[in-house]
Amino acid sequence: MVFISFIRPCRSVIYRLSCSRNLSSVRRKEVNKEIRVRLASAYRALDSYGLNEGVCNHLSAIAPCSILDANIMLIIPFHLHWSEVNPSNLIEVNEKNEVLVGEGKPETTAFCIHQGVYKKRPDVKAIMHTHMPYATALTCLKNPKLLMLHQNSSRFYNRIAYDTEYAGLGDFAAEGERLGEALGQNSVLFMGNHGVLTAAESVDVAFDDMYYLERAAMVQVLACSTNQEVKEMDERVVSHTSQQILEVSTSLCKKAFGLCYLEK
Ligand SMILES: [Zn+2]
Repeated sequence: MVFISFIRPCRSVIYRLSCSRNLSSVRRKEVNKEIRVRLASAYRALDSYGLNEGVCNHLSAIAPCSILDANIMLIIPFHLHWSEVNPSNLIEVNEKNEVLVGEGKPETTAFCIHQGVYKKRPDVKAIMHTHMPYATALTCLKNPKLLMLHQNSSRFYNRIAYDTEYAGLGDFAAEGERLGEALGQNSVLFMGNHGVLTAAESVDVAFDDMYYLERAAMVQVLACSTNQEVKEMDERVVSHTSQQILEVSTSLCKKAFGLCYLEK
């Protein structure tokens, strides 16, 4: 896969995926660099799976700033294609949409949506927003609910919020905060007539949710396209399977990214 080329051997910088201030200058740069690698890998991987849309859509992560003792948002500069993203061309943006490191600016809706969600969910360290085809198709239905039809669906049991109030491009701060409010404590937001968003404590988990969400949506669309009655799983089975998957998902994420982690 394309993103594997970004990954360094396991012996390289290994860190705990929480960002905090008061890191030493060396450590801050080290963690910043590692999160850049992970985020760039996610851009390239989702591009290789065809889950992005032109130069639109956006992924971000909270990271220690590489030049200041503060946290910033790492994100893609507008107009850069996802296939061209690498760790060094991501930009560092503060809460005022000032670019502290890097060239270019974030697309306006990217800044508004991501900052709005981070503001409402300080526990979230990575956000991914795409218009990936199958999940987005579901958001265009009157009933956009992800049905519990498949093992992959159960991963999202009680973890999805549904927003049906689409009113145009989210190019103002209040819309981002509204979306953050709509997300609540969930991990996934179905954005009606628009796309989807995953929010997680790390790039790895947000990526993993994005990938499996599209697979679950694809199965639902294909199953429903047969025009035969679909068979939803029993709720007890769904709940149990969901717990099983979430218990191992962290290690699955690590394998998906070809990295190992140790707390430091
Ligand atoms: Zn969008």
